Amino acid sequence: MSGLPIDFKFRKERRKVGKERNVAVWGPLNPPLELGIRGTHVAVDWDICTGCGICAEICPQRLYEWVQTPNHPTSERKPLPAREPECVQCHRCETKCPVQAIRIVVPGPTGWRRAMDPLGFLQMGGGIVYGALYGPALGLMVLFWAGWLMLAIGVPLFLSIAIYFKKAGRPVEGKSIADTTVLVDTGTYALVRHPQTLGAILMMSASILISQHWLIAILGITVSAWNYRWVVKEEKGLLVKFGDEYKDYMQRVPRMNLLIGIIRLLKRRDRRR
Ligand code: SF4
Ligand code: SF4
Repeated sequence: MSGLPIDFKFRKERRKVGKERNVAVWGPLNPPLELGIRGTHVAVDWDICTGCGICAEICPQRLYEWVQTPNHPTSERKPLPAREPECVQCHRCETKCPVQAIRIVVPGPTGWRRAMDPLGFLQMGGGIVYGALYGPALGLMVLFWAGWLMLAIGVPLFLSIAIYFKKAGRPVEGKSIADTTVLVDTGTYALVRHPQTLGAILMMSASILISQHWLIAILGITVSAWNYRWVVKEEKGLLVKFGDEYKDYMQRVPRMNLLIGIIRLLKRRDRRR
């Protein structure tokens, strides 16, 4: 046994040499003595793993399957992250593995989600620039100025992850700051559970009001609806990741209703006095 944890930079420094039951295999590979790493977002270094079984036992998604590895020096069975896409990034396996053989990496956006982020930025930028240069297409000046006010509220909310997660989220070195290891419920997260998405929706709505252009409106409504749907899905994973702590957070703080969030926060502060 090397005594070293899994190589954090394996995706840059190792080569993908194939697949096992649809799970990526990262070399070097020289069976039965050298077995490499299995998985990309749930990565297990089989050359470090001692086959203790803790990861398979505690994974709430039950995504590991055992593979027999006769004559390997550290153990003769290894956990394969067979249903890797079902990982909810709770980090339990990563923190409990006694030999640090596991690395959990939050996957970047895929499929439609990958297209939605640039479309959202295009909608925001396009509508605001159009409105600022040519004025609102429908000429409704009250809505035009309401849009600028909405933008002023949306921007700081949108920056919530960058402002609060770095410190309060205690991210692990080498990982995205969005991948928090503790529940963040301070700052804008004390008002709503998803300030960044709320900020994005407000900015897209602002863009609609400022431009008053039909194309900007269609784009903004589509991307906003997609973002909201994504948040609902993401919360299912957060419930598994943080358990009762997240349930309690859901009781205290609304998902995205800023007005209710402010009222509840003021009431909580009142009670503490
Ligand atoms: S917890 Fe670590 S050592 Fe134990 S089986 Fe899982 S990967 Fe291997
Ligand atoms: S991070 Fe959580 S859900 Fe993902 S593999 Fe590990 S224990 Fe399972």
